[in-house]
Amino acid sequence: MSNKVADSNFNDVHWQMDILQNIDVGLIVLDDRYNVVVWNSFMQNHSGKTPEKVLKKSLFSVFPELSEDWFRHKAESVFVLQNATFTTWEQRPYLFKFPHYRPITGTAEHMYQNSTIIPLPNTKGEVEHICVIIYDVTDTAVNKIAQQQANEKLQNLSRTDHLTGLYNRGYWELRLIQEFKRFERYKHPSTLIMMDIDHFKKVNDRYGHPTGDEVIRHVSQAIKEQVRDLDIAGRYGGEEFGIILTNTSVDGACIFAERLRKKIEGMVVHYDGQDVRFTISLGLCELSEQHATYKTWLEKSDQGLYKSKEGGRNRYTVSE
Ligand code: GH3
Ligand code: MG
Ligand code: MG
Repeated sequence: MSNKVADSNFNDVHWQMDILQNIDVGLIVLDDRYNVVVWNSFMQNHSGKTPEKVLKKSLFSVFPELSEDWFRHKAESVFVLQNATFTTWEQRPYLFKFPHYRPITGTAEHMYQNSTIIPLPNTKGEVEHICVIIYDVTDTAVNKIAQQQANEKLQNLSRTDHLTGLYNRGYWELRLIQEFKRFERYKHPSTLIMMDIDHFKKVNDRYGHPTGDEVIRHVSQAIKEQVRDLDIAGRYGGEEFGIILTNTSVDGACIFAERLRKKIEGMVVHYDGQDVRFTISLGLCELSEQHATYKTWLEKSDQGLYKSKEGGRNRYTVSE
Protein backbone atom coordinates (compact mmCIF):
# COMPACT_ATOMS: atom_id res chain seq x y z
CA MET A 1 0.00 0.00 0.00
CA SER A 2 1.53 3.32 -1.01
CA ASN A 3 1.66 6.22 1.43
CA LYS A 4 -0.75 8.16 -0.71
CA VAL A 5 -3.45 5.49 -0.45
CA ALA A 6 -2.82 5.06 3.26
CA ASP A 7 -3.20 8.81 3.67
CA SER A 8 -6.47 8.87 1.83
CA ASN A 9 -7.76 5.96 3.95
CA PHE A 10 -6.73 7.82 7.05
CA ASN A 11 -8.60 10.92 5.85
CA ASP A 12 -11.70 8.85 5.18
CA VAL A 13 -11.69 7.54 8.73
CA HIS A 14 -11.11 11.04 10.04
CA TRP A 15 -14.05 12.46 8.12
CA GLN A 16 -16.24 9.61 9.13
CA MET A 17 -15.40 10.27 12.76
CA ASP A 18 -16.26 13.95 12.25
CA ILE A 19 -19.58 13.03 10.74
CA LEU A 20 -20.35 10.58 13.56
CA GLN A 21 -19.51 13.24 16.09
CA ASN A 22 -21.71 15.92 14.57
CA ILE A 23 -24.69 13.91 13.40
CA ASP A 24 -27.93 14.72 15.22
CA VAL A 25 -28.49 11.22 16.60
CA GLY A 26 -26.85 9.51 19.54
CA LEU A 27 -24.16 6.94 18.71
CA ILE A 28 -22.56 4.56 21.19
CA VAL A 29 -20.27 1.70 20.22
CA LEU A 30 -19.92 -1.03 22.85
CA ASP A 31 -17.55 -3.98 23.00
CA ASP A 32 -18.72 -7.42 24.06
CA ARG A 33 -18.25 -6.55 27.74
CA TYR A 34 -20.49 -3.50 27.32
CA ASN A 35 -17.61 -1.09 27.66
CA VAL A 36 -18.05 2.15 25.74
CA VAL A 37 -15.76 2.53 22.72
CA VAL A 38 -17.40 5.43 20.88
CA TRP A 39 -19.46 8.21 22.47
CA ASN A 40 -20.50 10.95 20.08
CA SER A 41 -21.25 14.60 20.84
CA PHE A 42 -25.05 14.10 20.78
CA MET A 43 -24.59 11.70 23.72
CA GLN A 44 -22.17 14.07 25.41
CA ASN A 45 -24.40 17.13 25.00
CA HIS A 46 -27.57 15.50 26.23
CA SER A 47 -26.13 13.45 29.08
CA GLY A 48 -23.59 16.03 30.21
CA LYS A 49 -21.00 13.22 30.42
CA THR A 50 -17.74 13.81 28.56
CA PRO A 51 -15.98 11.00 26.65
CA GLU A 52 -13.27 10.94 29.38
CA LYS A 53 -15.90 9.96 31.93
CA VAL A 54 -17.48 7.33 29.75
CA LEU A 55 -14.95 5.74 27.39
CA LYS A 56 -13.63 2.31 28.42
CA LYS A 57 -16.17 2.14 31.21
CA SER A 58 -19.10 -0.24 31.47
CA LEU A 59 -22.26 1.35 30.14
CA PHE A 60 -24.14 0.10 33.21
CA SER A 61 -21.72 1.74 35.64
CA VAL A 62 -22.03 5.08 33.79
CA PHE A 63 -25.83 4.82 33.56
CA PRO A 64 -27.06 2.91 36.60
CA GLU A 65 -30.66 3.83 35.75
CA LEU A 66 -30.47 1.87 32.47
CA SER A 67 -32.27 -1.42 32.99
CA GLU A 68 -29.34 -3.87 32.71
CA ASP A 69 -31.41 -7.05 32.34
CA TRP A 70 -33.53 -5.59 29.60
CA PHE A 71 -30.59 -4.09 27.72
CA ARG A 72 -28.44 -7.24 27.96
CA HIS A 73 -31.32 -9.33 26.69
CA LYS A 74 -31.73 -7.06 23.65
CA ALA A 75 -28.00 -6.73 22.98
CA GLU A 76 -27.23 -10.47 23.37
CA SER A 77 -29.52 -11.23 20.47
CA VAL A 78 -27.62 -8.71 18.34
CA PHE A 79 -24.25 -10.28 19.27
CA VAL A 80 -25.46 -13.84 18.74
CA LEU A 81 -27.96 -13.58 15.88
CA GLN A 82 -26.17 -10.65 14.20
CA ASN A 83 -29.50 -8.95 13.53
CA ALA A 84 -30.42 -5.38 14.33
CA THR A 85 -33.11 -4.73 16.92
CA PHE A 86 -35.39 -1.74 17.19
CA THR A 87 -37.22 -0.22 20.18
CA THR A 88 -39.85 2.53 19.84
CA TRP A 89 -40.74 5.21 22.38
CA GLU A 90 -44.15 3.58 22.69
CA GLN A 91 -42.58 0.35 23.94
CA ARG A 92 -40.10 2.19 26.20
CA PRO A 93 -40.20 6.02 26.34
CA TYR A 94 -36.39 6.30 26.53
CA LEU A 95 -33.16 4.37 27.01
CA PHE A 96 -31.27 7.26 28.52
CA LYS A 97 -33.12 9.79 30.60
CA PHE A 98 -32.15 13.12 29.07
CA PRO A 99 -33.91 16.29 30.14
CA HIS A 100 -35.90 18.03 27.45
CA TYR A 101 -36.76 21.65 28.02
CA ARG A 102 -39.66 23.10 26.05
CA PRO A 103 -40.01 26.71 27.06
CA ILE A 104 -43.30 27.20 25.21
CA THR A 105 -45.38 24.10 25.66
CA GLY A 106 -43.58 22.63 28.66
CA THR A 107 -45.13 19.26 27.87
CA ALA A 108 -42.15 16.90 27.84
CA GLU A 109 -39.99 16.41 30.90
CA HIS A 110 -37.59 14.10 29.13
CA MET A 111 -36.51 13.26 25.62
CA TYR A 112 -38.56 10.50 23.99
CA GLN A 113 -36.29 8.12 22.10
CA ASN A 114 -36.44 5.44 19.47
CA SER A 115 -33.37 3.24 19.45
CA THR A 116 -31.68 0.71 17.23
CA ILE A 117 -28.89 -1.69 18.13
CA ILE A 118 -26.91 -2.91 15.13
CA PRO A 119 -24.11 -5.52 14.95
CA LEU A 120 -20.65 -4.33 13.82
CA PRO A 121 -18.95 -7.43 12.38
CA ASN A 122 -15.14 -7.39 12.05
CA THR A 123 -13.31 -8.52 8.90
CA LYS A 124 -13.72 -12.15 10.00
CA GLY A 125 -17.47 -11.69 10.32
CA GLU A 126 -17.43 -11.95 14.11
CA VAL A 127 -19.47 -9.49 16.10
CA GLU A 128 -17.37 -8.13 18.93
CA HIS A 129 -18.95 -4.69 18.87
CA ILE A 130 -22.44 -3.32 18.63
CA CYS A 131 -23.67 0.18 17.91
CA VAL A 132 -26.56 1.76 19.79
CA ILE A 133 -28.30 4.55 17.84
CA ILE A 134 -30.59 6.95 19.69
CA TYR A 135 -33.15 9.11 17.86
CA ASP A 136 -34.83 12.09 19.51
CA VAL A 137 -38.55 11.66 18.71
CA THR A 138 -39.89 14.03 21.37
CA ASP A 139 -41.95 16.15 18.94
CA THR A 140 -43.69 13.15 17.42
CA ALA A 141 -44.34 11.61 20.83
CA VAL A 142 -45.66 14.80 22.39
CA ASN A 143 -48.06 15.39 19.48
CA LYS A 144 -49.29 11.82 19.52
CA ILE A 145 -49.80 11.85 23.28
CA ALA A 146 -51.68 15.18 23.14
CA GLN A 147 -53.91 13.82 20.40
CA GLN A 148 -54.61 10.63 22.34
CA GLN A 149 -55.43 12.62 25.47
CA ALA A 150 -57.85 14.88 23.56
CA ASN A 151 -59.57 11.84 22.05
CA GLU A 152 -59.86 10.16 25.44
CA LYS A 153 -61.24 13.35 26.92
CA LEU A 154 -63.86 13.51 24.20
CA GLN A 155 -64.82 9.89 24.75
CA ASN A 156 -64.89 9.99 28.51
CA LEU A 157 -66.79 13.19 28.85
CA SER A 158 -70.42 12.39 29.34
CA ARG A 159 -72.08 13.88 26.32
CA THR A 160 -75.71 14.27 27.09
CA ASP A 161 -77.73 16.41 29.40
CA HIS A 162 -80.04 14.30 31.57
CA LEU A 163 -83.13 16.53 31.49
CA THR A 164 -83.25 17.09 27.74
CA GLY A 165 -81.14 14.42 25.99
CA LEU A 166 -79.36 17.22 24.10
CA TYR A 167 -75.57 17.51 24.27
CA ASN A 168 -74.41 18.98 27.56
CA ARG A 169 -72.45 22.19 27.64
CA GLY A 170 -68.96 20.66 27.95
CA TYR A 171 -69.34 18.39 24.97
CA TRP A 172 -71.22 20.96 22.93
CA GLU A 173 -68.40 23.48 23.42
CA LEU A 174 -65.83 20.93 22.26
CA ARG A 175 -67.90 20.43 19.13
CA LEU A 176 -68.11 24.21 18.69
CA ILE A 177 -64.29 24.37 18.81
CA GLN A 178 -64.06 21.56 16.25
CA GLU A 179 -66.50 23.35 13.96
CA PHE A 180 -64.48 26.55 14.28
CA LYS A 181 -61.29 24.68 13.31
CA ARG A 182 -63.05 22.93 10.44
CA PHE A 183 -64.02 26.34 9.08
CA GLU A 184 -60.42 27.59 9.25
CA ARG A 185 -59.51 24.70 6.99
CA TYR A 186 -62.45 24.13 4.65
CA LYS A 187 -64.36 27.46 4.78
CA HIS A 188 -67.75 25.77 4.71
CA PRO A 189 -70.40 28.14 6.05
CA SER A 190 -71.66 27.54 9.57
CA THR A 191 -74.16 29.48 11.64
CA LEU A 192 -74.47 29.51 15.41
CA ILE A 193 -77.81 30.12 17.12
CA MET A 194 -78.01 30.95 20.82
CA MET A 195 -81.50 30.94 22.31
CA ASP A 196 -83.17 31.48 25.66
CA ILE A 197 -86.73 31.00 26.92
CA ASP A 198 -88.51 34.31 27.58
CA HIS A 199 -89.60 35.23 31.12
CA PHE A 200 -88.84 31.77 32.34
CA LYS A 201 -88.63 32.88 35.95
CA LYS A 202 -92.31 33.71 35.72
CA VAL A 203 -93.07 30.20 34.42
CA ASN A 204 -91.32 28.73 37.45
CA ASP A 205 -92.95 31.19 39.82
CA ARG A 206 -96.44 30.75 38.49
CA TYR A 207 -96.56 27.02 37.75
CA GLY A 208 -93.72 25.57 39.83
CA HIS A 209 -90.30 24.20 39.03
CA PRO A 210 -91.46 20.77 37.73
CA THR A 211 -93.64 22.51 35.14
CA GLY A 212 -90.63 24.66 34.23
CA ASP A 213 -88.68 21.46 33.64
CA GLU A 214 -91.43 20.18 31.38
CA VAL A 215 -91.27 23.39 29.34
CA ILE A 216 -87.49 22.93 28.95
CA ARG A 217 -88.09 19.36 27.73
CA HIS A 218 -90.69 20.53 25.20
CA VAL A 219 -88.37 23.20 23.80
CA SER A 220 -85.59 20.61 23.52
CA GLN A 221 -87.90 18.22 21.70
CA ALA A 222 -88.84 20.94 19.23
CA ILE A 223 -85.15 21.61 18.58
CA LYS A 224 -84.44 17.89 18.05
CA GLU A 225 -87.28 17.59 15.59
CA GLN A 226 -86.04 20.49 13.52
CA VAL A 227 -82.26 19.97 13.32
CA ARG A 228 -80.58 17.82 10.70
CA ASP A 229 -78.18 14.97 11.47
CA LEU A 230 -75.06 17.10 11.12
CA ASP A 231 -76.32 19.98 13.25
CA ILE A 232 -75.07 20.18 16.82
CA ALA A 233 -77.61 21.11 19.49
CA GLY A 234 -76.79 21.48 23.18
CA ARG A 235 -78.18 22.74 26.45
CA TYR A 236 -75.90 25.65 27.22
CA GLY A 237 -77.35 26.60 30.59
CA GLY A 238 -80.62 26.36 32.54
CA GLU A 239 -83.03 27.40 29.79
CA GLU A 240 -80.43 28.43 27.22
CA PHE A 241 -79.57 26.42 24.16
CA GLY A 242 -76.89 26.53 21.46
CA ILE A 243 -77.41 25.15 17.97
CA ILE A 244 -74.62 24.93 15.40
CA LEU A 245 -76.08 24.66 11.92
CA THR A 246 -73.26 23.15 9.89
CA ASN A 247 -72.97 23.87 6.17
CA THR A 248 -75.59 26.59 6.64
CA SER A 249 -75.23 30.28 5.86
CA VAL A 250 -77.14 32.94 7.77
CA ASP A 251 -80.03 33.01 5.26
CA GLY A 252 -80.79 29.36 5.81
CA ALA A 253 -80.36 29.80 9.54
CA CYS A 254 -82.93 32.64 9.59
CA ILE A 255 -85.50 30.31 8.06
CA PHE A 256 -84.64 27.72 10.72
CA ALA A 257 -84.86 30.29 13.54
CA GLU A 258 -88.18 31.67 12.40
CA ARG A 259 -89.69 28.21 12.04
CA LEU A 260 -88.55 27.23 15.54
CA ARG A 261 -89.75 30.53 17.04
CA LYS A 262 -93.20 30.06 15.49
CA LYS A 263 -93.42 26.44 16.51
CA ILE A 264 -92.71 27.31 20.14
CA GLU A 265 -95.02 30.30 20.14
CA GLY A 266 -97.84 27.95 19.15
CA MET A 267 -96.97 25.30 21.72
CA VAL A 268 -99.07 24.56 24.78
CA VAL A 269 -97.61 22.44 27.55
CA HIS A 270 -100.27 20.60 29.54
CA TYR A 271 -98.81 19.75 32.90
CA ASP A 272 -100.22 19.28 36.36
CA GLY A 273 -103.67 20.30 35.14
CA GLN A 274 -102.45 23.56 33.68
CA ASP A 275 -101.81 24.95 30.20
CA VAL A 276 -98.57 26.84 29.79
CA ARG A 277 -97.60 29.03 26.84
CA PHE A 278 -94.20 30.59 26.29
CA THR A 279 -91.84 32.06 23.68
CA ILE A 280 -88.12 32.09 22.90
CA SER A 281 -85.60 34.69 21.75
CA LEU A 282 -82.71 33.87 19.44
CA GLY A 283 -79.39 35.34 18.27
CA LEU A 284 -77.69 34.24 15.04
CA CYS A 285 -74.17 34.65 13.78
CA GLU A 286 -72.55 33.14 10.71
CA LEU A 287 -68.91 32.20 11.23
CA SER A 288 -66.49 34.36 9.25
CA GLU A 289 -62.81 35.16 9.12
CA GLN A 290 -63.48 38.21 11.32
CA HIS A 291 -63.97 35.88 14.26
CA ALA A 292 -60.55 35.37 15.79
CA THR A 293 -61.59 32.57 18.13
CA TYR A 294 -64.64 30.38 18.71
CA LYS A 295 -65.39 32.59 21.72
CA THR A 296 -65.86 35.65 19.53
CA TRP A 297 -68.31 33.67 17.45
CA LEU A 298 -70.20 32.68 20.60
CA GLU A 299 -70.20 36.24 21.96
CA LYS A 300 -71.56 37.63 18.70
CA SER A 301 -74.46 35.16 18.72
CA ASP A 302 -75.10 36.06 22.33
CA GLN A 303 -75.18 39.75 21.42
CA GLY A 304 -77.88 38.96 18.87
CA LEU A 305 -79.85 37.14 21.57
CA TYR A 306 -79.49 40.13 23.90
CA LYS A 307 -80.80 42.45 21.18
CA SER A 308 -83.81 40.16 20.66
CA LYS A 309 -84.57 40.43 24.38
CA GLU A 310 -84.17 44.22 24.31
CA GLY A 311 -86.30 44.48 21.20
CA GLY A 312 -89.27 42.85 22.92
CA ARG A 313 -88.50 39.06 22.92
CA ASN A 314 -90.12 36.31 20.80
CA ARG A 315 -87.85 37.16 17.85
CA TYR A 316 -84.44 36.49 16.31
CA THR A 317 -81.59 38.93 15.56
CA VAL A 318 -78.58 38.47 13.30
CA SER A 319 -75.13 39.68 14.42
CA GLU A 320 -71.91 39.82 12.40
P1 GH3 B 1 -85.55 36.57 29.99
O1 GH3 B 1 -86.73 36.69 29.11
O2 GH3 B 1 -84.80 37.86 30.08
O3 GH3 B 1 -84.67 35.43 29.60
O4 GH3 B 1 -86.14 36.31 31.44
P2 GH3 B 1 -85.97 34.99 32.28
O5 GH3 B 1 -86.93 35.08 33.41
O6 GH3 B 1 -86.06 33.79 31.44
O7 GH3 B 1 -84.52 35.22 32.82
P3 GH3 B 1 -83.35 34.23 32.83
O8 GH3 B 1 -83.12 33.65 31.49
O9 GH3 B 1 -82.19 34.91 33.44
O10 GH3 B 1 -83.90 33.14 33.87
C1 GH3 B 1 -83.49 31.84 33.89
C2 GH3 B 1 -84.26 31.14 34.98
O11 GH3 B 1 -84.36 29.77 34.68
C3 GH3 B 1 -83.57 31.20 36.30
C4 GH3 B 1 -83.65 29.81 36.89
O12 GH3 B 1 -84.38 29.84 38.09
C5 GH3 B 1 -84.43 29.03 35.89
N1 GH3 B 1 -83.86 27.72 35.62
C6 GH3 B 1 -82.59 27.44 35.28
N2 GH3 B 1 -82.44 26.11 35.08
C7 GH3 B 1 -83.64 25.54 35.31
C8 GH3 B 1 -84.10 24.18 35.26
O13 GH3 B 1 -83.38 23.23 34.96
N3 GH3 B 1 -85.41 23.97 35.53
C9 GH3 B 1 -86.26 24.99 35.86
N4 GH3 B 1 -87.52 24.71 36.13
N5 GH3 B 1 -85.83 26.27 35.93
C10 GH3 B 1 -84.55 26.55 35.66
MG1 MG C 1 -81.44 32.49 30.68
MG1 MG D 1 -84.76 33.34 29.90
